Amino acid sequence: MRRNIVAGNWKMNLSFELADDLVNDIAEKLDSVELNADVVICPPFPYLELTSDLAQESNFFAGAQNVASFDNGAYTGEVSSKMLASMNVDYCIVGHSERRKYFNETNQEIATKITKLLKDDIKPIFCLGEVLEERESGKHFDVVQKQLEESLFNLTSQEILNVVIAYEPVWAIGTGKTATSLQAQEMHAFIRSLLDKKYGNEVAEEISILYGGSCNAKNAKELFANKDVDGGLIGGASLKAEDFLAIIKSF
Ligand code: PEP
Repeated sequence: MRRNIVAGNWKMNLSFELADDLVNDIAEKLDSVELNADVVICPPFPYLELTSDLAQESNFFAGAQNVASFDNGAYTGEVSSKMLASMNVDYCIVGHSERRKYFNETNQEIATKITKLLKDDIKPIFCLGEVLEERESGKHFDVVQKQLEESLFNLTSQEILNVVIAYEPVWAIGTGKTATSLQAQEMHAFIRSLLDKKYGNEVAEEISILYGGSCNAKNAKELFANKDVDGGLIGGASLKAEDFLAIIKSF
C-alpha cells in the first residue's frame, strides 16, 4: 500500500529561534493527532540538526531541501548526501522549480542527485511540473513526461520504489492559484500511467505522488480525496503549525 505523505518545505524562511518554536509546536500537536499520513519537515540546512534530533522522538520525519550532485571535497557551500545521512535525514526535496529556475538545475543533474540520495538511503522527493506558458500552449503533459523520463527512468524498479514524486505546477507555487482538483488528478493519473508503462502496475501503484502549489487548509481535503493524489508538498502553509496540522488532518 502506498503511503500518504504531507511534507513541509520551509524554503529560506525563519530565524533559528522561530524554527525552533515552529518545529516544537508541530511535534507537540502531532502527538495528539491520529495520523493517516507520514509527515516530513524540510528546514533550511542550518536548522537540520534541530529537526532531525526532534524527529527521533516525534511523529515526523526529517527532510532537507537540496543536496549536492558531488560526493565530497572542494565544493564550497554544498552539502552532500552522506552528510545528510549522517544527520539522520530521511527525505530530501530535489528538482524544485525554484532550483531549476534560479540555480539552472537540469533534469540530468537532478538524476545524479537522486542516485546519490538513494545510495545513502535517503528518499528523494522529486519535483516536476510545467510553467504557465507550457500549460496554456497545451504542452504540460510533454514537459512532465520529459522531466520524469530524464530524471527518474534510469532507476531500477527497486530504486524507484524509494522515490516520492511531487507534481508542482509552477504557476501554482506561492501564487495562491491552486490547480483544480481535476487538473491535479489528471496529471497524477498521467504520471502513474507512465510509471506503469515503464515499471509495471505493481510498482506504479506503490509510488506516492504528492501535489504542491498553494495547497492549504481549505483546499487540501478536496485535492487529497483524488485517487492518485497521495498528499502534498506544502510551502507557505507549512510555516504555521495550525495550518500545517489542518492540512495533515485532511486525510
Ligand atoms: C513549494 O514550495 O513546493 C510549494 C508548493 O509552495 P506553496 O505551497 O507556497 O505554493
